[in-house]
Amino acid sequence: MGVQHWTVGEVRIHAVLQAVIPIPASRLFANQPARLPAHLVPDYVDAAGNILMAIQSYLIESAAARVLVDTCFAGSFLQPRGIPDRHEESLAATGTAPEDITAVVCTHLHRDHAGRNTVERDGQWVPTYPNADYLLTEAEHQHWCECTGEDRAPAECVVPLAQHDKLRLVDPDHQVTDNVRLVPAAGHTPGHVAVRVESDGAVAYIGGDTVHHPIQIGDPEIAALPDADPGAARASREKLLRRIVDERALLLGSHFTAPSAGFVVGGEGGMTWQPLIDREGTR
Ligand SMILES: [Zn+2]
Repeated sequence: MGVQHWTVGEVRIHAVLQAVIPIPASRLFANQPARLPAHLVPDYVDAAGNILMAIQSYLIESAAARVLVDTCFAGSFLQPRGIPDRHEESLAATGTAPEDITAVVCTHLHRDHAGRNTVERDGQWVPTYPNADYLLTEAEHQHWCECTGEDRAPAECVVPLAQHDKLRLVDPDHQVTDNVRLVPAAGHTPGHVAVRVESDGAVAYIGGDTVHHPIQIGDPEIAALPDADPGAARASREKLLRRIVDERALLLGSHFTAPSAGFVVGGEGGMTWQPLIDREGTR
């Protein structure tokens, strides 16, 4: 699988893939359809009928800014499960070093999104991206402090950021750079956000866990089991997809396997996912 990257006006976005994990639909969705749509095979559903989940960050490059959206699992979580961790080599393939990252956006504090916020060096947990501010909504931080679910990122992924003065608690519509802004999208978790990129009239959204899988575009009622508030998650999903249709924006799915970006077309029969097969992007 080649490295995927896209152009949005003057901005470049790269997928930084850590792993692709096949899981039975019943383990991801609370109410999956009896049959998975055939057009999703083989890119998003494998021949055995498993949902394919990409674990990946997105790197947004504009002027001097290098914004990393989410950091994926800790390698120590994947290795005992026999899943190779390709995150470091994927980031290196974009030509960016960890020291070059200027900001990390945490869409939310689940371990598949925030697990590599920190690394252990000489017995100490330190920020993986030493020169980055780590941005997180106040509501998400508060929720993380109060919750104990197994999806929750462990303490060592969050507490050392504050100790190193790298944690920035922000509003859910925070402007990150001239081109990058957070978009409130609560429901999956109380402080969850998506990310909007705009440059020269072109727009892209990075969905976080607003949309877990392309199957939810055709059927936004399909709920993911980890959604903390399924009703709010669905409302956020429908609102985000409507904005993407109206703005003719590109959607980059945080868990979408390649092609991970595409357009959402609204019509009489609902919304349709149109993957961008050209990996270079067109906008
Ligand atoms: Zn996730």
